[in-house]
Amino acid sequence: MDKRLAAALELGTVAALYGLDGDPEPAAPSPISAAAAGAPASAVATMGWAELREAARACRACGLCAQRKQAVFGVGAEAAPWLFVGEGPGADEDELGDPFVGQAGKLLDSMLAAIGLARGREVYIANVVKCRPPGNRTPTPEEAQACAPFLDRQIELLGPRLIVALGKTAATRLLGTEASLASLRGRTHRYRGTPVVVTYHPAYLLRTLPEKAKAWEDLVFARRLLAEAA
Ligand code: URA
Repeated sequence: MDKRLAAALELGTVAALYGLDGDPEPAAPSPISAAAAGAPASAVATMGWAELREAARACRACGLCAQRKQAVFGVGAEAAPWLFVGEGPGADEDELGDPFVGQAGKLLDSMLAAIGLARGREVYIANVVKCRPPGNRTPTPEEAQACAPFLDRQIELLGPRLIVALGKTAATRLLGTEASLASLRGRTHRYRGTPVVVTYHPAYLLRTLPEKAKAWEDLVFARRLLAEAA
């Protein structure tokens, strides 16, 4: 197939994937269409779990691949009703390959335990970006967008009954809003029809202990929401 046509098709698919239809410009490859060393976004959208994990492992869609030790795909039951979405792997996660295994992860585990949940049972944990941003900085919007097909497909495969967005990066990615975290708390939002509750990121809670009570309120709210929907 003509290379320009192939590029145009790829860009069109990617734009549709993000709901950004119209105006694909074949001459300007997006970070996703440049995922030549990984899988194109159009392919990611139809993958099963094993393929998706492998595609994330090999992905070179953004600059984060340069310094990662490994991609951190996600962990938990693949039919979990609860999905918790964080920001991106830190040093511990980059080393060990699972999300939330450092200090913030310990806090997340106790938050889960407080509402009767445990990772690996009815919970799946994933991040907005699968590779560690250097120095644990916040992922850029471009990096979050480059990684979006992976999280989108994980959510599609999981079909969670409720998503908890941990922190602003996850809320922005899932809800497409730049609104403050404080303004998003305490309400039910939707990601492609699935209810989303927004709360503080555990790493923030470690630095700002008084906010822990608010995170507790958010989780109780989330648990009630799920119970009412049952
Ligand atoms: N912070 C995150 O957002 N995700 C992790 O996996 C670890 C820390």
